[in-house]
Amino acid sequence: MQYFSLQNHQHRVSFETAVVEGLAPDKGLYFPERIPVADSNFLQSLHEYSDHEIAYRVISPFVGEEIGEADLRNIIAGTLHFPFPIQKVSDRSYALELFHGPTLAFKDVGARFMAGCLGHFRKNKSQPVTVLVATSGDTGGAVASGFHHVPGVQVVILYPSGKVSTLQEKQLTTLNGNITALEIQGSFDDCQRMVKAAFLDKELQAHMSLTSANSINVARWLPQMFYYFLAYKQMKAAHPKLAFSVPSGNFGNICAGMMAAAMGLPVAHFIAATNVNDTVPRFMESGQYTPGKAVPTLSNAMDVADPSNFVRVLQLFGNNLPSLREKCSSYSFTDSQTVATMRQVWKDYHYILDPHGAVGYLGLQQYLPEHPEVSGVFLETAHPVKFEDTAPEEIRDYISIPERVRALYSKEKKSVLLPPEESALKAWLLQQ
Ligand SMILES: *Cc1c(COP(=O)(O)O)cnc(C)c1O
Repeated sequence: MQYFSLQNHQHRVSFETAVVEGLAPDKGLYFPERIPVADSNFLQSLHEYSDHEIAYRVISPFVGEEIGEADLRNIIAGTLHFPFPIQKVSDRSYALELFHGPTLAFKDVGARFMAGCLGHFRKNKSQPVTVLVATSGDTGGAVASGFHHVPGVQVVILYPSGKVSTLQEKQLTTLNGNITALEIQGSFDDCQRMVKAAFLDKELQAHMSLTSANSINVARWLPQMFYYFLAYKQMKAAHPKLAFSVPSGNFGNICAGMMAAAMGLPVAHFIAATNVNDTVPRFMESGQYTPGKAVPTLSNAMDVADPSNFVRVLQLFGNNLPSLREKCSSYSFTDSQTVATMRQVWKDYHYILDPHGAVGYLGLQQYLPEHPEVSGVFLETAHPVKFEDTAPEEIRDYISIPERVRALYSKEKKSVLLPPEESALKAWLLQQ
């Protein structure tokens, strides 16, 4: 499969190049040159296939010959080694729990799949590749865990000192080995600026091979299709008409769902649920794309004003707003609606939502009343324990900490403290 840059459709590269580069040289996102069609017999008898087999059949056309079958199956086995259960929450509303991975983040799937692919492509290269990422919390943990022990890959993670939760900091700073945490005495914006400067620095480029692991990489984006196929597998017998409500920030997850639908997965409708960072809901209403400034909210992994993957959504719908509207509705919700819903759902159904899942649940409740024939799955993207501090008091005591996470608290933190300056990062990297 070839991938083209959304800035220049003539610029085509292999899957390997798309994975290693992340972004095209013209800053365009990569997009597959064609959309594979899933076999209809396969879709109808999905329940007869193992999760790994489904994942293999879904992703292999996007990878093509560039990774052999046995290796690709291995990468999938390393990616999907935890469950994706569905829980009924209320009438026609089901939670697809994506937080059972090693760092309790749904981003574990994308990060692990990308780590597997990059490790594969770097296997026989003499020079290691250095993955450089800035994190405000969640992404860094998933990337660190996904790339831990991958041969030929060094990972350097920048995080703002004192601005991530204790649990998140432990996830970044206790792995060691090929993972180094740089604790920056500044903000997340400082971290991002430093990383950007490093990627543009010619002297650094000559010294080492740098790449990013950010969410626009095709190897992080595409494996998110698995969620939708695996949910459909579990739901299809009893729920022929299925809608998905996706709490959205950068719109990578929902765009993967739309790609699954484009391959033939029967999805009745998508709901793109956002917090008050409502650029997309406003666009869907008015046709005007006018990103503002990101506003901090309780569902902070979705505090995105200009979602980077939305260009891929538009591409999937041929840049045609009416056909996007036919398949997708988008609603935004405030923090007070989010908290009220967390309370209500706990009180009425004894289910604990995290703030991101709560936004997804709200989206579904907005859509379902007018579509009585549809059942809905909302994606529960984070474990509630990650947002314990802001959970309503009556819920907090009932949030349990999974064993594998509890063990982290007693591990020793190791980080390298750096001032928030581009030159400090460069000097540190040159010593490596
Ligand atoms: C990243 C993230 C999201 C948003 O996903 P996108 O693909 O960026 O839309 C939602 N919830 C949680 C918990 C996340 O970490």
